[in-house]
Amino acid sequence: APTFSHTFNHPSYSGKVSFPVGLFIDGKFVDGSEGKLIDVLNPSNGKLIGQIAEASKADVDKAVAAAHTAFNESWGLKVPGFERGKLLIRLAELIEEHADALAAVEALDNGKAFAIAKSFDVTESAAVFRYYGGWADKLHGKVIETNPTKFGYTTHEPIGVVGQIIPWNFPFMMAAWKLGPALACGNTVVLKPSEFTPLSALYLCQLINEAGFPHGVVNILNGYGSTVGAAIAEHMGIEKVAFTGSTLVGRSIMKAAANSNLKKVTLELGGKSPNIIFDDADIEQAIRWTAFGMFFNHGQCCCAGSRVYVQASIYDKFVEQFKAHVQTLKVGDPFDKETFQGPQVSQIQFDRIMGYIEHGKEAGATVALGGKRHGTEGYFIEPTVFTDVKPEMKIVQEEIFGPVVVLAKFEDEDDIVHQANDTVYGLAAAVFSSNVSRALTVAQRLRAGTVWVNHYNKLHPQIPFGGFKQSGIGRELGKYALANYTNVKAVQVNLTDKL
Ligand code: NAD
Repeated sequence: APTFSHTFNHPSYSGKVSFPVGLFIDGKFVDGSEGKLIDVLNPSNGKLIGQIAEASKADVDKAVAAAHTAFNESWGLKVPGFERGKLLIRLAELIEEHADALAAVEALDNGKAFAIAKSFDVTESAAVFRYYGGWADKLHGKVIETNPTKFGYTTHEPIGVVGQIIPWNFPFMMAAWKLGPALACGNTVVLKPSEFTPLSALYLCQLINEAGFPHGVVNILNGYGSTVGAAIAEHMGIEKVAFTGSTLVGRSIMKAAANSNLKKVTLELGGKSPNIIFDDADIEQAIRWTAFGMFFNHGQCCCAGSRVYVQASIYDKFVEQFKAHVQTLKVGDPFDKETFQGPQVSQIQFDRIMGYIEHGKEAGATVALGGKRHGTEGYFIEPTVFTDVKPEMKIVQEEIFGPVVVLAKFEDEDDIVHQANDTVYGLAAAVFSSNVSRALTVAQRLRAGTVWVNHYNKLHPQIPFGGFKQSGIGRELGKYALANYTNVKAVQVNLTDKL
């Protein structure tokens, strides 16, 4: 199987990283059955940094077979929760030990700032594995009393082999969100990273072996969505599929599940989340959180606060101060210590976002800031602020998934609740106000799976995350995510009843 090697030489991180980048099946790194490779590009300059093995449909069959054997022989109901938990916690420790190298690989492959990759992506991923390690021996059923002659009890059993398909915006963290609850509950996994950002999940494979997980419990296959992703979604040996990505592909996953074995489906899809600033908010803080809510991860967050609504009485002041603050966000080399925003992940995403910016201009919106490519190489885009937008414009309705925000006005609570909920999505929202009853009343009226009050984009392993409406099905993180990975069995016992 191929190896990825790279020597980093930056003030923030220097060192050589080298690890196998084959398909990870049954604890071993192997070549793809068709011998094909996928090019890995550096989004900061568009240049080739390596090649990884590409999986085919036949490789998915092999991985599913390994996962079935592991489920029956060395995981699932064979390993007590306490042991599963110990392995997950050991994995969290190893991730922390390898944090610098993992963050460097993530920054190189995805383009996010090294410092953020380390303090957020890698650190939070370790926290997620540790959190689910803690749950592994606390997955109890219930005893349910019915009448004096009978009783019932429930057990929460693992589902079996689960398929997981993840995107490129948080390559490492999405793997953690998916694997943590699935493994805690005793499932075995076939996971497909995004073909745009395959490296950090492959690095993780080494740590999974080092932690001591039985072979075949986790299998990681890189490949394209239309082949490997589709093969997972329609596989008869996979009993549950979890997907994060576009709403369009989410629909095809659900169809494939329906047309094959009715595997259980959870989806975490797109958003066009409203961020609401009332006139009684702490304006300076609201501006900082609003910029963070939008431009964090270069706008490539499914929960990005991409529709900002400001109460009319403070709108002009807000726009001026917001523009001034956004201009202080440093765009540039992910390995520069000052960098907040790196490149978009790929040429495709760059073109897509620039297309939306052009569309916004043609539709009559005003580019109040940015709107252009940043620099001359790589996929960098200036943080872009649109004003004078209308509700029906594409830039207000569709997920851009880049550093492009629209600012609009609102009058009062009824007006903002109407505007905020005028979307097919329902992933997240935020309310900024110093009036607690106003903030919480609006939070109650918003149709979204997360509502942040007086901050944005904050996630915790303990707090569930997921969408209303077309933003998805099911919840990740927290205790809620465990329900996605267990079958509830009810055992009904007859003590003395005679027929
Ligand atoms: P995508 O949905 O195509 O890709 C996500 C994952 O699904 C990848 O691993 C991909 O290989 C896989 N996939 C693609 N086609 C598939 C298929 N037919 N069957 C099974 N798996 C398949 O997302 P994208 O094209 O990389 O990005 C497009 C848009 O999706 C973005 O601009 C953004 O709007 C949205 N997106 C959302 C999220 C999120 O976190 N919700 C993440 C990434 C992208």
